[in-house]
Amino acid sequence: MLTFTSHGGAGTVTGSRHLLTHGDTRVLVDCGLFQGLKNLRELNWRPLPVAPPTIDAVVLTHAHLDHSGYLPRLVRDGFAGKVHLTPATGDVAALILRDSAFLQEREAEFANRKGFSKHHPALPLYASGDAERAIAAFAPAPLHRTVALPGGATLTFRRAGHMLGAATARIDIGGRTVVFSGDLGRYGDTVMHDPEPVPDADAVVIESTYGDRRHAPADPVEALGAVIERTVQRGGTVVIPAFAVGRAQSLIHHLWQLRQAGRLRNVPVYLDSPMAGSATLLLHRYDDEHRLDRRDYEAACAAVTYVRDVGESTALSANRYPKVIISASGMATGGRVLHHIAAFAPDHRNTLLFSGFQAAGTRGRKLLDGAREVRLHGRWVPVAAEVAELPMLSAHADSDELMRWLSGFRRPPRQVFIVHGEPAASEALRERIGRELGWPATVPLQGQTFVL
Ligand SMILES: [Zn+2]
Repeated sequence: MLTFTSHGGAGTVTGSRHLLTHGDTRVLVDCGLFQGLKNLRELNWRPLPVAPPTIDAVVLTHAHLDHSGYLPRLVRDGFAGKVHLTPATGDVAALILRDSAFLQEREAEFANRKGFSKHHPALPLYASGDAERAIAAFAPAPLHRTVALPGGATLTFRRAGHMLGAATARIDIGGRTVVFSGDLGRYGDTVMHDPEPVPDADAVVIESTYGDRRHAPADPVEALGAVIERTVQRGGTVVIPAFAVGRAQSLIHHLWQLRQAGRLRNVPVYLDSPMAGSATLLLHRYDDEHRLDRRDYEAACAAVTYVRDVGESTALSANRYPKVIISASGMATGGRVLHHIAAFAPDHRNTLLFSGFQAAGTRGRKLLDGAREVRLHGRWVPVAAEVAELPMLSAHADSDELMRWLSGFRRPPRQVFIVHGEPAASEALRERIGRELGWPATVPLQGQTFVL
């Protein structure tokens, strides 16, 4: 009997952890951190309902923290199998997991020093050694090549767009074909290729981040230029929370296009991330996995100032001249962007610009919902700055694009599971799939098991 259970990423966009069980074989697809709402974040500290030593393999669709960030904890709790991922995802995930372990350790240390944690002492969820052991378990599998998984199962990755290395996963197990969309990117994106269609599946597990939304058809470059120009005209700074690998490169490319068109000539752009340089090297290493022309991209990068060390980053927060700062994390849940928000949010001339999906409970969502103050490092900071959102810059497919990917199946799957969305978004996509394709679809609850 083959079963499917979501232990995370059901009814929420974070903490993706989907389990396939066939006989004694257990394959976990994605192994993400819960982020955002406190009751979700607390789930990171609860033991996984399935004992990590009994999991035979992990398949990682892409490197984002909400899909990969629990791996070091899984390894610390006894998982001893391989982590199957694309080569590019392996390189990006190594950066992300090392950075995540560093942030976990530093936050625990900071909480202990300032005494604002309920726990004494505050402990990190995992440490750098755990991240290194997780990275040592990586088993890269190139796109389109079918590789073996434990228990006679096989795995085939195809392009998902979304971010460098991102893939859909086709898993053949127990006589069935199960396809996981992972996170799907946009069609016609300037950086990433279109998501590839998958011809057939018995069961499909699809994300629904924007299952209830269509991105505005406006030109993203134009929209970005307009936000920056009006901020600069009032003497302000634009702070853009964005992850260093992926959206940051798109933003840099868009900003360069604006400069080529004679706009934003005197507005300095800073990419404040310890990973920024590595991200550029990775784009070069995986030249055929994205649409950026190397010469164009080098020219775009030359127009940006890279901020690597913390001292320079702090100095940037104190600099009051109009500028653009791109810094992680993308949902303002951690990272250097926090001290930029603390520095720039109180002044009405500045703008906080969000380009990606902001999960419920994150600072990003609270700001977009109109919060007039935000808690940062244990203190309340007033928000007078403009807060803007450009979802068309997002790395996620909208509802039309999710339907377009589904239309690639040559025969209707017998089962469709809708995950990785807040309840209204998942439900809207479920209805739309029923109405337009006539396929029965289900929005699983966390922990609910289905026979495939
Ligand atoms: Zn993602």
